[in-house]
Amino acid sequence: MPRSAIILGAGMVGVSVGLHLRQRGYDVLVLDRRDPGEGASFGNGGLIQREAVFPTPFPRELKELLRFAGNGTREVHYHPTALPGLALPLLRYWWNSAPARYEALSLAHAALVVTCIEEHRALAQAAGPAADALLRPLGWMRLFADAASFRPALAKAERARAEYGVGFRALDAAGLAAAEPHLRISRPHAIHWTDPLSVSDPHALVMAYADLLAREGGRFAHGDAMTLARSGAGWRVTTAAGPVEAAEVVVALGAHAAALTQRFGYAPPLFGKRGYHKHYGLTGNAVLHHPVIDAPAGFALMPMRAGVRLTTGIEFAALDAPPTPVQLARAEPVARAMLPLGEAREAQPWMGVRPCLPDMLPVIGPLPGMPGAWGAFGHAHQGFTLGPSTGRLLAEMMAGEQPFVPVEPYRAGRF
Ligand SMILES: Cc1cc2nc3c(=O)[nH]c(=O)nc-3n(C[C@H](O)[C@H](O)[C@H](O)COP(=O)(O)OP(=O)(O)OC[C@H]3O[C@@H](n4cnc5c(N)ncnc54)[C@H](O)[C@@H]3O)c2cc1C
Repeated sequence: MPRSAIILGAGMVGVSVGLHLRQRGYDVLVLDRRDPGEGASFGNGGLIQREAVFPTPFPRELKELLRFAGNGTREVHYHPTALPGLALPLLRYWWNSAPARYEALSLAHAALVVTCIEEHRALAQAAGPAADALLRPLGWMRLFADAASFRPALAKAERARAEYGVGFRALDAAGLAAAEPHLRISRPHAIHWTDPLSVSDPHALVMAYADLLAREGGRFAHGDAMTLARSGAGWRVTTAAGPVEAAEVVVALGAHAAALTQRFGYAPPLFGKRGYHKHYGLTGNAVLHHPVIDAPAGFALMPMRAGVRLTTGIEFAALDAPPTPVQLARAEPVARAMLPLGEAREAQPWMGVRPCLPDMLPVIGPLPGMPGAWGAFGHAHQGFTLGPSTGRLLAEMMAGEQPFVPVEPYRAGRF
């Protein structure tokens, strides 16, 4: 009898877990209330971030915290009503971002990140030439307004190169103008991370991986993961086509994972960082050659198949609160000053939620108090990057193989 698993969540993480389990002979069913890749994996920046060896910390400088507290920046927006519920996880996030703890946590983050390009390439090549063509070797650029902000970033980049082989080149104003001739602003410094892949359509990549899984015998079903129940020694869910049972279950519900696991007594301090996007055409013959994050502007501009994708920073809000895209409204005029953007291509912005844990590391492994249940969630700013690496690691653990990195830092019971 093949081993069987129900995977809850058809985002980049769940689909990647499915592929790696299928490779090991598992009978796999992926359940989602929507089609694959329609959660956070749909509308992100599309970067496969080989450079992101250091995770995104909570700001530690009082000046910066006070700036965000005013709730008027483009980088961070919050719903005041959500703050009481977020206070504890954010305090732990702040605590974990202190230099010594951050250093230790970064090691475990980097251990996964350094594998991201090979792991994506392997899946994309198996998925076929159209999928592989979505992975563009463009890298991405961060622009700096002055030497004071550039210097520490350069020092960190040099560390990333020395310790983890991260590739980059430092650009001055002339170098930046040569690389991006249609940018209307000048910046004295930029870092061009040269390793990352820029995916021209993140949703299409998840769909290509999902199609590959279906070709290899994996099944997909619509349904609500909240129907999960114990069934003998295994697990059962209700799909649109009726109940399905399996010996094991994988919770890959992104920002919604804790809502399910807490019903079974496991309540990780998962919180969301929401983000928005809209697409724009470029007027005349203007072209954006690379994804660009302008540090002073606090948003990203990504050249995508659908147009230039303007993606915003972080919004703290309740998971089910209606969208409040004020950061997009603040960013759009600044983006127009940077590039000759045409009309927005969507009337309503897209919104997604980065699933975050206070120590900046995902949960990958068995879930406490839930025999036969495994977690793969909490990948924060790099879930699109880390889906395939996570899929491989979790499948190795489930199949009893030697994991390719030590798994202790991602243990679900660490909170
Ligand atoms: C603006 C923005 C930009 C980003 N840019 C990048 C980037 O450039 N690179 C990068 O690596 N990462 C980026 N990220 C982060 C990345 O998108 C996420 O970390 C990643 O998509 C998480 O993948 P996931 O599979 O865990 O979750 P999701 O993609 O959210 O998948 C979870 C799935 O669970 C399903 N689900 C939830 N509840 C239920 C339920 N009750 N029943 C059934 N199904 C359910 C959802 O429908 C969804 O399909 C960005 C995120 C945002 C918001």
